This record gives sequence, C-alpha cells and structure tokens, in this order.
Amino acid sequence: MRGLINYGTYCSINSVVQCLYETRELRDLIRRVDERDYQAPNHKNTVAPTLKSLIREMSTDGPSPCDPSCLVDSMSAYSGVRFDVQEDSELIFKCIVNALADGCGAAKEIGKLWDIEKEDSVRCLGCNAVRSIRTKSNTIPVSIEENLPDELQEYIKRHSDTTTTCDCHCANCHTRTRVEIASKVVSLPPVVCMRIARVKNIGRGAAHIVKTEKRFAFTETVDLKYLVKEPADTPTLYELYAVVAHRGTHYCGHYTAYVRAEDSWYIADDTYIRMCSWGDVKTTYEAGSNLYDGVAYMLMYRRRNSSR
Ligand SMILES: [Zn+2]
Repeated sequence: MRGLINYGTYCSINSVVQCLYETRELRDLIRRVDERDYQAPNHKNTVAPTLKSLIREMSTDGPSPCDPSCLVDSMSAYSGVRFDVQEDSELIFKCIVNALADGCGAAKEIGKLWDIEKEDSVRCLGCNAVRSIRTKSNTIPVSIEENLPDELQEYIKRHSDTTTTCDCHCANCHTRTRVEIASKVVSLPPVVCMRIARVKNIGRGAAHIVKTEKRFAFTETVDLKYLVKEPADTPTLYELYAVVAHRGTHYCGHYTAYVRAEDSWYIADDTYIRMCSWGDVKTTYEAGSNLYDGVAYMLMYRRRNSSR
C-alpha cells in the first residue's frame, strides 16, 4: 500500500481513493480503460485514465507517497467543483463513480459496480391501486435517528419493513387520499457503499448543518437479504473491506480510511499507512475511543464469493 499526498484539502479524496484501490473489482476493470478513448482535445471527462494512472502507481513499490493531483484536476474539470475546500467524502465517491459511468468502455462497467436498483411502490389506501417506479443509486443511506437500531444488521432488518404514509392525489380514484410508500431493492451489486447519515440540516442555510457522533456499530459480515424484494439467487452475505472515518465538525475535520488488504486491516491517513486490527476499526463506532477520534461515515462491503 502507498500513502497519498494531501495538499491541504485532499484528505476526503485520499480516503475515498484508498477505498477504491482496495475494490479489486474496480482494479480488475480499470486495467482495460484505454487512454486513447480520452485523447480528443475537447474531452472534458478524463477521470478514468487519471484514476487508472494513480492506481497503477499505487500498486508499485516506492518509497514516497503518490500524488493524487491529476485525479483531482480531472474531477474538477468534469464536475466544476474546485476541491479547494474539504468536500464530503460521499460527494467525492459519487463524483468519481458517476464520471466513470459517464466514460468509455470498461470505465462504464466500473461506474455500475455499486448500482443498486430499487423499486418504490405507492399503494393508495383508498382504492388499493399500486404504482411502481424503478430507480438506481450507488449508495445506501443509513439513518441513525434516536428511534432506530444502533447496529447495522439490526438496522437493515428493521429498515426492510419500513413503509411510510403520506397524503397524495391518486391517479386511479382521482381523490386526495392516504398512500403507503414502500421501497425495496430489486438487485444487489457486487460491492455496496453505505453512507451513515451523520450530517443533517437542523435549519435553513449552511450554518445549520450539524454532525452527530452517535454510536453506530457494524460487523465484518452483513446479510442484505432483508433489503431484497424477491428471494435472490445470488448470495446476500457481504464482507466489509473499507471504512471511511471522519473526525471534527462538518466544516472542519479530517478523513481517514481503514481498508482490508490480504486479510489484514490498515489505516490510511494521507501519506501515513499503518497495519491495524479489526479492534481498531471498531473504535470508529463512536467518537473519543481511538487515536484519530474518527467516527465511521462510509462502509464498503463486497459480496462474499465474488471473484478474487
Ligand atoms: Zn386511489
């Protein structure tokens, strides 16, 4: 493993890149990205070849940390975001994955690695008519409100039964009536990114964004069968391989990544890489219990039995 240089605001990018590097499904595919597909002078999206180049450098032995600047520049050119202030790591993840999905050839396949297809159904409680729509997303939000379980597997079990109701116009019986909304996953991807919703708006405007440090526990394996609409013929047991942790406030803080490589856990803190234990990873359940004071913010799981 190689560290990554932080030019002041890059810790969120560095943490996400370390997680992507340990996504072997991505590493297998990115070798097939062809730089020639991106050489047109007006090609705005060069995220795939710059990520390929950075990952190639990270996979070689070297005494010095790698420089992620070219990737950051290509992300800026693609998204219009300047990355001169620390950005949320989920935004970084989505920026990279969406740029890959918007790229050419193998990059498109990488962009789909995390795709979760969901079906949202709306049932009119007046006439019982059901309408369904299918949507895609590349992260699963995990809410940590007070009334919800503070452990991932329990949360997923409970979350799968959650339906909400609201008042809405029914296109079938043409009345404003109570409707029930349920959301189920149709198909699970080989890798899953969960984002623990630690940041929330408690009022209008940027000054009202707060981060909660509430305890939230997770295990090295999790069964996602509870999320799936129909019994799946693919395995639903997933293994944790990367965690992005954050310490500090929403406005001023520091990101680190915990990644599992060859069955050992490592902490990646910009240029600094150190082997650690699963016990160290578990300290990110809550603040104040580890050296970095970081709390887990994003969790990456991969399907067990997927190709090594
Ligand atoms: Zn109706």
